[in-house]
Amino acid sequence: TLAFLNNQYLPLSEAKISPMDRGFLFGDGIYEVIPSFDGRIVGFSAHMQRMENGLRALEIDNPYDRDGWKSIMQALLERNNQELGDSVGVYLHISRGMQLTRSHGYSEDLTPTVFAFAFKIPPSHSSQPEKVQGLSVSLAKDLRWQRCHIKSTSLLGNVLHFQEAKRGGKHESILFNSQKEITEATTSNVFIVEQGIVRTPPLDNQLLPGITRKLVIESLINENIQVEEVVITAERLLNADEVWLTSSSKEIAPVISVDGNQVGNGEPGPVWRKALLAYDLYKFS
Ligand code: PLP
Repeated sequence: TLAFLNNQYLPLSEAKISPMDRGFLFGDGIYEVIPSFDGRIVGFSAHMQRMENGLRALEIDNPYDRDGWKSIMQALLERNNQELGDSVGVYLHISRGMQLTRSHGYSEDLTPTVFAFAFKIPPSHSSQPEKVQGLSVSLAKDLRWQRCHIKSTSLLGNVLHFQEAKRGGKHESILFNSQKEITEATTSNVFIVEQGIVRTPPLDNQLLPGITRKLVIESLINENIQVEEVVITAERLLNADEVWLTSSSKEIAPVISVDGNQVGNGEPGPVWRKALLAYDLYKFS
């Protein structure tokens, strides 16, 4: 595939950065993953807004305006279309840049390193909901840092949680804080359904403000399906009728088992199906 590195398009296998890049040494950077279907980008302005917020939080200058980012994305989509097909995610990464002394403190005049590439994502579930397999997830104490609302490239906490779930044969891990309240999963946000009402934890520093989460909430409101942002305890999650995970590459994925406990009747639920259709109608709007 063709990638983008510091204003240049080049084969992904030839992209190289300095080992003194602060992204490499410290995970000092921000990233985004933006989905597209048939060349149409989902949630572009919301993804840009989140990236701008993250860059501001890290005091990294945004190297491009929104039009600049859009042209990079479109070029990657067009030039990789043959190879990647119609369901494609674009990864954008901005690190603070290269600094020739290793110090936690950063110089304020570094040139950010910009890297982007496109990759295949699964086709949208909405075309064939009956073929969707429910996910099995584990439940674990959230051991990450207290700025999970920043989409930072420092992902070690998420990586360790995810690998532990994988080792246990699970697809994902849903995390709870020291009050036993659900925060999110390692690569996705969490929703539950109780007696037809959809609920998801409110945004704060403990979770990423997922763009899929945002679009799902808006699409449910559009279809008059009741949705609430409320604290959800782990116990409540274990008794929910349905559990879903949302992310740019998963869209809305039904969970059928949490920590070995069956969710509902052990199959993707009816509200999930409705939500999937509502989201599909809404996602390009
Ligand atoms: N939470 C975490 C920790 C994530 O890494 C992600 C995305 O990968 C999400 C939530 C979902 O965010 P989005 O819907 O913007 O992909």
